[in-house]
Amino acid sequence: MISDCLIVGSGMCGLTAANILHDNGISVTVLDKGRGIGGRIATRRFSHEMTGEGVFDYGAQYFTVRDERFKKWVDKWIEIGIVNKWSEGFINTEGDLKIDNKDRYIGRENMRQITKYMAKDLDLHQSTKVTKFNWEDDRWNVLTEDENVFYSKNLVLTSPVPQSLALLKESGINLDSDLQNKLQNVEYEPCIVLMALCEGETTIPKPGGMWGNGKQISWITDNFKKGIKTDAVSLTVHTSATFSKNNWDESNESIYKKLIDEIFELTGVKIVGYQVHKWLYSQPVNIIDSTFEFTENPGPIYFGGDAFSGPRVEGAFVSGFDIGNAIISTY
Ligand SMILES: Cc1cc2nc3c(=O)[nH]c(=O)nc-3n(C[C@H](O)[C@H](O)[C@H](O)COP(=O)(O)OP(=O)(O)OC[C@H]3O[C@@H](n4cnc5c(N)ncnc54)[C@H](O)[C@@H]3O)c2cc1C
Repeated sequence: MISDCLIVGSGMCGLTAANILHDNGISVTVLDKGRGIGGRIATRRFSHEMTGEGVFDYGAQYFTVRDERFKKWVDKWIEIGIVNKWSEGFINTEGDLKIDNKDRYIGRENMRQITKYMAKDLDLHQSTKVTKFNWEDDRWNVLTEDENVFYSKNLVLTSPVPQSLALLKESGINLDSDLQNKLQNVEYEPCIVLMALCEGETTIPKPGGMWGNGKQISWITDNFKKGIKTDAVSLTVHTSATFSKNNWDESNESIYKKLIDEIFELTGVKIVGYQVHKWLYSQPVNIIDSTFEFTENPGPIYFGGDAFSGPRVEGAFVSGFDIGNAIISTY
């Protein structure tokens, strides 16, 4: 079957574009290499005999809403009960509360609840890695690691830009030099995240977030106090870009050992179990000044994601929104 549009990536950008297309009667297929829907909006659960099951948001912790188009979607999510307002600020490592009057929102049960909801009506294939594509007979043939082929008229790449460029290279597609340079200049910071199951209550006050001091730790969430659906005290610890770069090749155990004293100092809890996740492309540090890019050579390809309109959930939404509407305007 040929769909009108094939989207690589079930993150906020891909899901937004897919919903807009689907709602306008344009057939769309979404492929994502990850097991869970949502890309960098990610939630994980694991257990320990002493604490029971912990649930951890371990990518985006919350999102802000400035764009009116995003606000309409978020208002609907609030109305149907999948999103809550979280907070206008958090404490820092000195214990001072920093309020900046910017509303921050979260998934009511967890962050992934939002992307699962967005995916509910879509033709979506997780654990499906796109390996290359070629333009033949006025359509894209999109090949996956498990040797399936998907056919479509339009291709949307929402993977982090270096991954999209690697796919183009593998496919033998050369972009014009302006676009190639623009995309090649986008850089991302890595982020190593430690998820820890803990005994006892943390000293982090409600609503459960703490800004780090930027040395080793950049952020801590007490997911229990955040109010997501977790039985156990579950900490998500984001490390700074410098720590992440310097310790990228270290084992999980070594990373844990480097952080444990500081975590105890900041939260007062004892860790009984942990997991580590390494985001190579956590957030872009330089942004392209358009909400998406497009080429029609050899066939229509749209490039989107948070590198195009802001290194955050809202930026990915805006990019996906504009791509969806750009494709609609060609029908
Ligand atoms: C640790 C961390 C903390 C963050 N905190 C915040 C925060 O508090 N607030 C905020 O607003 N933002 C935050 N962000 C940023 C936010 O998560 C992102 O800006 C946003 O989710 C990006 O969405 P996206 O759709 O552009 O990309 P992604 O979510 O990365 O989606 C791209 C998808 O493409 C898939 N993909 C890549 N290559 C292939 C392939 N070959 N085949 C198939 N699929 C492929 C990937 O699996 C991925 O799911 C954070 C990010 C991280 C990592």
